[in-house]
Amino acid sequence: MFSFIKKFFERRKARAAERNRLCNDLLQQVSWALSDYIDASKTKESLQKWIDDKSKLLVELSDISEFKRASCYKQLKQQRKVFDEFYTQAPNKIKAFIAEERQKRLDAEYVSKKVNLWASEQKSQKIKASKSKDLGRKVAKLTVNADELIPAIDVCTCCGKDGKRKMLYSTEGEALIVAEHRSKEIGIPLHVYPCPNGCGFHLTSNQE
Ligand SMILES: [Zn+2]
Repeated sequence: MFSFIKKFFERRKARAAERNRLCNDLLQQVSWALSDYIDASKTKESLQKWIDDKSKLLVELSDISEFKRASCYKQLKQQRKVFDEFYTQAPNKIKAFIAEERQKRLDAEYVSKKVNLWASEQKSQKIKASKSKDLGRKVAKLTVNADELIPAIDVCTCCGKDGKRKMLYSTEGEALIVAEHRSKEIGIPLHVYPCPNGCGFHLTSNQE
């Protein structure tokens, strides 16, 4: 109800502003026209011409004013129609847009999940196919680089069953290599899972 009243006043204000603008336009045209005569020599003829032209000018101005007013109202009406249409359709358009974006995101998440799964499956198969000797060499290489893991360990607070900090691996590949190597050593399958704090990857013997 209030929005209807508000709209009414807004429209009236817009019309008044347009009318003021037109009045100013006309005033300016009149003053320009007058300045032409004032600059001219003040002879009787020029004054008579001014009087004659003034009446002509007034007719012309009123024509222009009518024309302008008509076109301005038409414009305002057109604009109002566009705005009205926009505001009627806006809620549905926004809803549709949000739904579309949400679906796009879900699709993207689904695809990225599938790709990640496929990639880790490939990695895991490649690692499982490696010889123990090669795995041992890779693990030894990782231990050399273990110093690089220290900053990430500071953020990760994950602990194992023994209450000790869990070993953190910065990439899934490293974790898979270590998991495979140790699985072969201890005879218990180890699984790789992402750190819940997003720091990297951990190993677990829990079946998921
Ligand atoms: Zn962690």
